[in-house]
Amino acid sequence: MNFRIGHGYDVHVLKEGLRLVLGGVEIPYTKGFVAHSDGDVAIHAICDALLGAAALGDIGLHFPDTDAAYGGIDSKILLRRVVALLQEKGYQIGNVDCTIRMQRPKLRPYIDTMRRTLADAMGVGDDRVSVKATTTEHLGFEGREEGVSVSAVALIYVA
Ligand code: MG
Repeated sequence: MNFRIGHGYDVHVLKEGLRLVLGGVEIPYTKGFVAHSDGDVAIHAICDALLGAAALGDIGLHFPDTDAAYGGIDSKILLRRVVALLQEKGYQIGNVDCTIRMQRPKLRPYIDTMRRTLADAMGVGDDRVSVKATTTEHLGFEGREEGVSVSAVALIYVA
């Protein structure tokens, strides 16, 4: 089998009064993401990990934030398109793992729903999708609740 690995990283700014959509799941909170799309920073990092594994550029190349077509778009649509692109090239998804760095709210209650939602969007079993969350012990922009960062890795293969 021909295995390939990819890495993705994304950051979005948090602001009072906006929707918080993370890992494809809407989370009730006082702050949400400032972004051209729905701002789902976890999905964006996963898209970049998948695209990186296939050496197909990055999310900004495929879905430019200057294009009005992507204004407010549900990032699950972007993820489905990335997976379709990989499938066109003959790649299957092995597994995906990501780490969300966010001080508040506690994400534990949403993690399994995120895994299922992401797995559905990618057309894989949820045992192939891992979502982890950590605070940064109040350090840095994540710790000050100014923003959220997510890193992701993906393994893809040609069967
Ligand atoms: Mg982004």
